[in-house]
Amino acid sequence: MTQDSIKIFCPATIANISCGFDVLGLALSAVGDEMVIKKVPIPGLRITKIIGLDLPKEVENNVAGVAGLAFMEASTYKGGFEIEIYKKIKAGSGIGSSAASAAGAVWGMNALLDAPFSKRELVQFAMAGEKLASGVAHADNVAPAIYGGFTLVRSTDPLDIIPIHAPKELYASIIHPHIEIKTSDSRKILKTSISLADGIKQWGNVGALVAGLFQEDYDLIGRSLVDHIVEPIRSILIPGFDEVKQEALNAGALGCGISGSGPSIFALSKGLATATRVTQAMSNVFVKMDLSYDPYVSEINTKGIQIIS
Ligand code: ADP
Repeated sequence: MTQDSIKIFCPATIANISCGFDVLGLALSAVGDEMVIKKVPIPGLRITKIIGLDLPKEVENNVAGVAGLAFMEASTYKGGFEIEIYKKIKAGSGIGSSAASAAGAVWGMNALLDAPFSKRELVQFAMAGEKLASGVAHADNVAPAIYGGFTLVRSTDPLDIIPIHAPKELYASIIHPHIEIKTSDSRKILKTSISLADGIKQWGNVGALVAGLFQEDYDLIGRSLVDHIVEPIRSILIPGFDEVKQEALNAGALGCGISGSGPSIFALSKGLATATRVTQAMSNVFVKMDLSYDPYVSEINTKGIQIIS
């Protein structure tokens, strides 16, 4: 690449997608951060600017820095990098704020060096950043941010990522209620074992959802967007969750669930008009509760991270 500096769009992502806890994720177009990554002669990695959120600039305390250091350790590049982060995704929103920074840093550095690493390797580096944010090196947000579309993380060790077809008419609605839930807290309340009966229902739905996406079978996608294991426990942390979900389904959504570890709630719909109606119906619940929120309607972002300039 002849450029020494690039500006990139780093998409927000929905992890889990109801039945696919810790394995499924998708990338969004309507919301994401921007980052500027610069190649500089002075060795090392520096975060020179963060706009939009109060986050640490020290590389070892910022997910972008930790992911970037993992990249540089594996690289033969002798120079340095500078990173500017323009946050649009609020931290702790459940739509992959930390993942956008971790994925963006390593994707941008790779692009400036003419792509010595594969997408899979970039996910591996970005996972080091995710470990800083949540204590667990999970890939269900960074994989769709880097690959685009839907992804399934079959295994994290060894890392095995399967890109999944995104049906053209599928749109996502997201409502982010302004309450704080820490990923680490929402992990703590989960049980560590499940019943065989729940397991059977859950993997039936994961398999059927993946088939529904590849076959563009919207009814099957809708029938499969069910979570028997995590949602019944985690939804207790989100005020109004049951009502928001009911209103989304009444307005025509195929399915509705918790985005990542919450508090954002997502719905998937066929067609932009339905998705817009669904977003409105979900918003109305929080208006009634006098709870402030951010609403988004988005197509599925099949490209993932992209160069803006
Ligand atoms: P989300 O699911 O929205 O990413 P998390 O709770 O997983 O939210 O991650 C947010 C945590 O990561 C916060 O504690 C935040 O301070 C920390 N963090 C460190 N660097 C960043 C960054 N560049 N962007 C977002 N969050 C960051």
